[in-house]
Amino acid sequence: MLGRMMYQPLLISSLIEHAARYHGDTPIISKNTDGSMSSTDWAAVAENAKRFANALQALGLEQSDRVATIAWNNHRHLESWYAISGSGLVCHTINPRLFPEQLIFIINDAQDRVVIFDKTFLPLIVGVKQHLPQVEHFICLDAPDDAVREKLPEVQFYDDLIAAQSKTFDWPELDENMASSLCYTSGTTGNPKGVLYSHRSTLLHSYGISLPDSLNLSAKDVMLPVVPMFHVNAWGTPYAAAMVGSTLVLPGPGLDGASLVQLIDNYKVTVALGVPTIWQGLLAAAKQSGSTLESMNRNVVGGSACPPAMLKTFKEQYNCDTIHAWGMTETSPLGSANQLKAKHELLSPEEKTQLRLSQGRPPFGVDLRLASAEKGTDLLPRDGQTTGNLQIKGHWIIERYFGKEESALTSDGWFDTGDIASLNSDGFLHISDRSKDLIKSGGEWISSVELENLAMCHPEIAMAAVIAASHPKWDERPVVIAMKVPDSQLTENELLDYYADKVAKWQIPDKVIFVDSIPLSGTGKMLKKDLREQYGQVLMEAPV
Ligand code: AMP
Repeated sequence: MLGRMMYQPLLISSLIEHAARYHGDTPIISKNTDGSMSSTDWAAVAENAKRFANALQALGLEQSDRVATIAWNNHRHLESWYAISGSGLVCHTINPRLFPEQLIFIINDAQDRVVIFDKTFLPLIVGVKQHLPQVEHFICLDAPDDAVREKLPEVQFYDDLIAAQSKTFDWPELDENMASSLCYTSGTTGNPKGVLYSHRSTLLHSYGISLPDSLNLSAKDVMLPVVPMFHVNAWGTPYAAAMVGSTLVLPGPGLDGASLVQLIDNYKVTVALGVPTIWQGLLAAAKQSGSTLESMNRNVVGGSACPPAMLKTFKEQYNCDTIHAWGMTETSPLGSANQLKAKHELLSPEEKTQLRLSQGRPPFGVDLRLASAEKGTDLLPRDGQTTGNLQIKGHWIIERYFGKEESALTSDGWFDTGDIASLNSDGFLHISDRSKDLIKSGGEWISSVELENLAMCHPEIAMAAVIAASHPKWDERPVVIAMKVPDSQLTENELLDYYADKVAKWQIPDKVIFVDSIPLSGTGKMLKKDLREQYGQVLMEAPV
């Protein structure tokens, strides 16, 4: 017997409709690319989203066509998100910090028909445009500007497009399993891979992150997503904000500590989200300005492990509870968030701090388990000690990558995260290492394999390993451990210079350590774990 309840598909359009109807006058504050501030509200965001949906339709786009955005967190970007996904198109958010070749690859791989961009990224667009044969429209997220038109004659301007359109648009009744957005993630080797979210996964994730024991979001919140909208959809906050009706403060290009302190104090931000590097900048700026960050009662740290001192400083000096969260592009991203349970009230302050440093526990909707690294399928105990390969399944977890035939899951339907972790009996997760060969610098990935391969192309390098070394500012930075060919006089700077025209500047390693030999496993693989143990702290010791 079927239940006799209404069926209503879980659609992104219903989020913006809800926000407009029940939270219409809730402010959306936004920093524009020129540094000026804009203030709008959910009702106006919804209205412009409809105007832009009409504009996209007028361009002749069809269901599931991809529309790329290369933009900061700002209100026009937010409006375009709802217009794109709400009208049945796929919003493909792009990280502007990618090397041009990668940018070209992902725009072509996604077959984007439209590229929407902030003025800041005009040079980037002009530089790659000739390699994007299938892009038919370039839309600058701004008012008309001759300087932009001069460099990109075919450009259209967002403000023009919406001004010409009606504010009425009937959101289509889509199948909730249709694709809504697309985000690429770095692979260890080769090209980035696309993660294609659905309306359903996005809405369930919004419920999941809003729960009290997740980020505890509500209409009383003023939310500052410092995490960019091109990093796993700003961790889903623009959707959750519409669901709960919170105010959004969108920081635009101003991600430095001083700008953030100003936003937090001026707009009474209650909750802000970002990677540890962002918080480091914020704490330094708050100290300098003397701000007490009074309104901010919690901040969410994710993307990389939260340093213990950071959690302590936020609590002791700013009375701000840090929520340590873990996730990945493939997991929408929320996989776990750290909120203590009632029974933990009995713990000593030291024990509480210790527990709060873990990456937290999964909300309903996702499940975590540990598999043995050696015997793939053997499951390991949740004893808070044993470490293994972290695997995840749930409503908002990837099944296969965009454009791929093969499933991304284990034979029994779990996604292997590439993280090494322990779990305790309450599900508190502790990430201890990473099996994927990637380095995370300030929230951005660098492939160690790619850097190794480049080093080994140098005629004077016999063998090279690139490891993730801990870094006081960027969390991790690449360090090359290299063996030279006999009699080579190659210097550290010469090898670093060799990278200059081959990778983006921020991906060039910080240091080269020349060694006589690199330890190898029985099967001839470089023992990078040993190298990490030996050299993983070299950048912490050096002055920065
Ligand atoms: P991304 O797909 O870029 O969001 O990166 C996901 C990866 O970042 C995870 O698989 C982890 O390796 C790392 N990561 C994310 N959050 C944390 C955290 N709180 N602690 C440690 N590593 C993290």
